[in-house]
Amino acid sequence: MAKDLDWGNIGFEYRKTDKRYVSNYKDGKWDDGVLTTDNKVIISEDAGVLHYAQECFEGLKAYTTKEGHIVIFRPDLNAERMYNTAKRLEMPSFPKDRFVEAVKQVVEANIDWVPPYGSGATLYIRPVMFATGEVIGVKPADEYQFRIFATPVGPYYKGGAKPIAIKISDFDRAAPRGTGHIKAGLNYAMSLHANVTAHAEGFAENLYLDPATRTKVEEAGGANIIFVDKDGNLVIPKSDSILPSVTRRSIAYVAQHYLHLKVTEREVLFSEVPHFAEAGLCGTAAVISPIGLINDHGKEITFSNGMEKAGPVISKLYQTLTDIQMGNIEAPEGWIYRIK
Ligand SMILES: *Cc1c(COP(=O)(O)O)cnc(C)c1O
Repeated sequence: MAKDLDWGNIGFEYRKTDKRYVSNYKDGKWDDGVLTTDNKVIISEDAGVLHYAQECFEGLKAYTTKEGHIVIFRPDLNAERMYNTAKRLEMPSFPKDRFVEAVKQVVEANIDWVPPYGSGATLYIRPVMFATGEVIGVKPADEYQFRIFATPVGPYYKGGAKPIAIKISDFDRAAPRGTGHIKAGLNYAMSLHANVTAHAEGFAENLYLDPATRTKVEEAGGANIIFVDKDGNLVIPKSDSILPSVTRRSIAYVAQHYLHLKVTEREVLFSEVPHFAEAGLCGTAAVISPIGLINDHGKEITFSNGMEKAGPVISKLYQTLTDIQMGNIEAPEGWIYRIK
């Protein structure tokens, strides 16, 4: 039976749900994996994750559509991204088909935790992989755990998506030829200080510039940035150190194939930003957060939509993508994995 939660007010926080999937890597292979009720992990004090931060994760969601189906949005892309992330961290990649299968199992096993249609809440799915093997010298561990748990999360926005204020960070997020393009916890550990200080100054997020020249726009701490130019077309920053957001890639597709906008992915100079009409941050949790202003060391860059509502193109993109997710309009082939 569906859990009796106040779905509109559950917030974005961890709740222990019924089952999680666990597979361990030992002697050169992943075991069969099991669903378990145990949400505790017991590891050696010398586990590689604790010393050399061999850890990576993913984030995706399941939700109830208008017709009452329970579906997952593009888990194959998360499987592929984690596969690539693991490679870069010298961790054993988890097979992509098994990743998708395990995500399905976790959703099925926690079906009572999937929020109802119209609540705005979703079941957030968190795959995570970390080194459990003991290492003292600097080298990759030889044992790992892959785990997937799920937790219901409330609507990101209560009462509509209000534009956010963000700031240009004086810190860097990702080094050139570093790890910005992979979803590793290490990228977040070192961004927390920038995050906390930006929040204390009243900003929702940091916008990072390219560390080498500080002239080009990269992305925010946990979300890609997109722009709409004066002609109403989409401009997406391109760089080797941007995390390939599933949401952003889906938005680019929707812009081109559903809304018939021109979509350009290219390097974006920070000096161009004042000439754009709209901007937004994209990620699984919020889908798109419209940006109202970017503070550059006291100088404010504003967009035509102001601070009260999203601009027309960002609104349309948000609406179309969420309509596709919820089954109100037909999804491109292969985007929606139905569980029930
Ligand atoms: C996870 C993440 C995103 C958003 O990716 P989605 O696949 O859309 O959720 C963007 N930037 C960073 C740095 C991330 O870690």
